Amino acid sequence: MKNNIIFGPIPSRRFGKSLGIDLSPGCKQCNFDCVYCELNPAKPIPGYRETLPVSDILQAVRDGLSEHPDIDVLTVTANGEPTLYPYLPELVEGLDELRGETRLLILSNASTIGRAEVRRVLRRFDTVKLSLDCATPRCFRRIDRPETSIDLEAIKKGMLDFRREYRGALIIEILVVEGINDKAAEIEELNRYLLRLRPERIDLGTIDRPPAYSVHPVPYEKLRDLSLLFDPALPVHITSRRDIESLTPSSYSEEEILHTLTKRPLTPDDVQLLFDPQSLKRLQNLLDEGKIGTLENHGVNFYIPA
Ligand code: SF4
Repeated sequence: MKNNIIFGPIPSRRFGKSLGIDLSPGCKQCNFDCVYCELNPAKPIPGYRETLPVSDILQAVRDGLSEHPDIDVLTVTANGEPTLYPYLPELVEGLDELRGETRLLILSNASTIGRAEVRRVLRRFDTVKLSLDCATPRCFRRIDRPETSIDLEAIKKGMLDFRREYRGALIIEILVVEGINDKAAEIEELNRYLLRLRPERIDLGTIDRPPAYSVHPVPYEKLRDLSLLFDPALPVHITSRRDIESLTPSSYSEEEILHTLTKRPLTPDDVQLLFDPQSLKRLQNLLDEGKIGTLENHGVNFYIPA
């Protein structure tokens, strides 16, 4: 079992070289049953039924770090939801003692963020990445299929409380599923809420791996259209590259490039997909002339008007 706890290292442009820690390596234990989950469908449960001892997890991390001493970040995750692990405070205490300069990241579905004791332990991570696929209850229930006691309003309030309390980097992940949360009205509701929350970054993606249920991803172009519905002040980063083969790069004048970046900052990956060779040269000219700058946002570079 111990060997299954650690996975990686996984090179990530955003977080560096990451070693993953799976708090539920034996089976899926989650209080959601998301339609897009890459694990098998499973009835959501309120808490873990199988729990590893903290000492086993810490020993596995110690072994992993001695085998890979150049790790940048330890990523706490699970086959399910890591904040349901009942000894998370003790585990983080132990990780703090052995991690040295290595940063701590946790990936959570945010279901427990309304609880003060969960927020207290999440504050000890350098980066917290929380999912928020919809800001309306009906859409939330359709896409994330949570355990019945989970209330979206408690999650939204908990996130706002956490934002006020937390000094690290809060990243929100939105996963778009065709026909569920890809409507303008849903994105506008998310936009309204995220303008209050002001996370460090918003990762907008779609289904990249075979999902639990019969649902479909949306193409990159659709994600791009949806990203334009967010307020330009929100740092939205498109993380999925679905169906880019059918995308034809377009020509942008210098004025259009500046206008586009005012509406939505783009990453170097985005401009490679969207701009034709002449437009890429115009972008370079604007950079050389200082009319465009780059902004690094927790591992992701964006072009922005100077
Ligand atoms: S929260 Fe994660 S593990 Fe749980 S059902 Fe959703 S995608 Fe799967």
